[in-house]
Amino acid sequence: MRLPLSPLALGAVAALVVGMGPGVRVNGHVQPRAPFMLAGQGVSAGQRADIDIPVPAGPADPATIVPVTVFHGAGAGPVLALTAGVHGYEFPPILAGQQLLTRIDPGRLAGTVILVRLAHVAAFEHRVPYVNPFDRRNLNRVFPGKADGTQTEHIAWVLTREVIRRSDLHVELHSGDGAEWLEAFAGIYGGRLAAAQYARSRDIGLAFGLQNIVKYSMETQAQVDSGRSLNRQAVADGKPTVLIEIGENGRRDASFVDAIVKGVDNLLRVLKMMPGAPDPSRADLRWFEGTADPTATVTGIYTPVATTGRTVRKGDLIGTVTDYAGRERERIVSPVDGYVMYGLTGPPVRAGEAVVTIGIPAKGPL
Ligand SMILES: [Zn+2]
Repeated sequence: MRLPLSPLALGAVAALVVGMGPGVRVNGHVQPRAPFMLAGQGVSAGQRADIDIPVPAGPADPATIVPVTVFHGAGAGPVLALTAGVHGYEFPPILAGQQLLTRIDPGRLAGTVILVRLAHVAAFEHRVPYVNPFDRRNLNRVFPGKADGTQTEHIAWVLTREVIRRSDLHVELHSGDGAEWLEAFAGIYGGRLAAAQYARSRDIGLAFGLQNIVKYSMETQAQVDSGRSLNRQAVADGKPTVLIEIGENGRRDASFVDAIVKGVDNLLRVLKMMPGAPDPSRADLRWFEGTADPTATVTGIYTPVATTGRTVRKGDLIGTVTDYAGRERERIVSPVDGYVMYGLTGPPVRAGEAVVTIGIPAKGPL
């Protein structure tokens, strides 16, 4: 495993290489920049390549692909992984990926972008929220995955091996899934097990210009391991990593897609991978330190009090659950003072499901 570059070292590399063009000067001679290798294919400096990484059929599920585009910049710089479509019914990141295909110019790029255009093709094509249509697994809970596993596990393994372990920095793009409302936020991974990466992750998260910022603190190995998400896989591999959530309810509004594209544009300037001054950072940030997730204890028809971001006090009503005969079975209240960031839109809810996620306000910037 390659050691992660410290934020300081990354900054120094970016400062040194910008403007050096396609070659690196060694002993007075300009050496051509080496091709970037991905899944056995070489991509020349200044070029883009669209690569379908194959996932062969297993005993119980069909073959699929992970469609990836590599933009190997003419100049040297970090390797940035952008992953879209881990949840195939979350459309804004997938549509933003389509726009980025023509917006990222490898001739002007310093560094390399690995864009996973659609991590979970089967879920997208079958229009299935949360899980894979064949093995019913949630791709974002099975990392690092395995080469001889089910389709979901094999996709996870491809993303771990070919994307996360080949990159220096990672951005995971999500939306509220079907029947899930959401106010946009950036989740930045820090804590004891990601402390060395936190400063870099923070720069990446703030680059998207969102008001709500959550710090996820990874303090124990059990946290990183249990139901491991792609972000947690990046933590396990020592990479700075950020979760960006924009869009809701399985919708594909242009405003959601535009916000993701604009965020990536700005991120490339923040990282000095593209020329130009970054946008000024916003002054009205809301910082949250972890979250609380009140859950339903009965299955039935869920009616939320509201489906927008808002401040709540401990004890405030979040929503009710009725049975199919219309009798109220549960009143779910907030366990904390905080800010409701996303939740189920309803009407279905199952016992044990979180109905909202509430950000715990931090005392100041983290
Ligand atoms: Zn998602």
